[in-house]
Amino acid sequence: MCRPFWTHGIVRRAIESKLITAEAVDIRAFATDRHQSTDDRPFGGGSGMVMTPAPLVAAIRSVRRGHPGMRTVLLSPQGRVFDQDMAREFAAQEGIALICGRYEGIDERVCLNCVDDEVSLGDYVLTGGELGAMIIMDAVTRLIPGALGGEDAADKESFAGSRLEHAHYTRPREFEGEGVPDVLLSGDHAAIARWRAESALIRTFLKRRDLLGGRHLAQTEIELLKQWRKEIDSIIKAQGLRGTGSPSGG
Ligand code: SAM
Repeated sequence: MCRPFWTHGIVRRAIESKLITAEAVDIRAFATDRHQSTDDRPFGGGSGMVMTPAPLVAAIRSVRRGHPGMRTVLLSPQGRVFDQDMAREFAAQEGIALICGRYEGIDERVCLNCVDDEVSLGDYVLTGGELGAMIIMDAVTRLIPGALGGEDAADKESFAGSRLEHAHYTRPREFEGEGVPDVLLSGDHAAIARWRAESALIRTFLKRRDLLGGRHLAQTEIELLKQWRKEIDSIIKAQGLRGTGSPSGG
């Protein structure tokens, strides 16, 4: 599943330009029995199969021998939920081994002895960890300097600085009756930067207000919020209502 994924887009380019290396390890190759089995029935009964510890641990140790500084991450619905902060954390690592579970999951003793982190893609259950591994690899690769072409491209994207990215427009200038904000056609770079900062703040406020709560706002953003408050207050006043949420408590 993973190898074809590496033959596309930014991940492929990053591999070709040696910014990253990627390797898929077949756990079955570390099985020692005649059938090369990697799973068995659960002790205590119950449905499904469990991945046995021996081949998995042998596979992990073999990878670690080749890459001693590597962090071992188990894909699991019970782990910390993956987000952009974690992607940044992983991008700073020397390497990551992403362990993909199957069946009912892996023998607990592997988790106890060989895993640094359990990471989840979200509160749902997938059939296996491979899709999660590809998502993590994709998000982390984008953060490797040089992977996106422009060195700072990832700095401006959503979640960099805990806000969403501004709106984007391209040609044509008019599409089905909708135009493009004039400022983007003005050539005034300072005005464009202001518009983008405001667009990012508006979108974060409307779509993901939770992101704003815990972050340190830039002075320009505080000014924008104050400006909005003034405008909102004047709209409310024009309705003959008292402004709610104003510092005077009115
Ligand atoms: N029985 C497990 C449980 O209830 O927690 C679920 C096992 S799941 C069917 C098989 C494998 O898929 C897991 O070992 C894990 O590697 C992967 N997986 C499933 N859901 C995932 C998620 N939300 N995030 C990351 N990996 C997941």
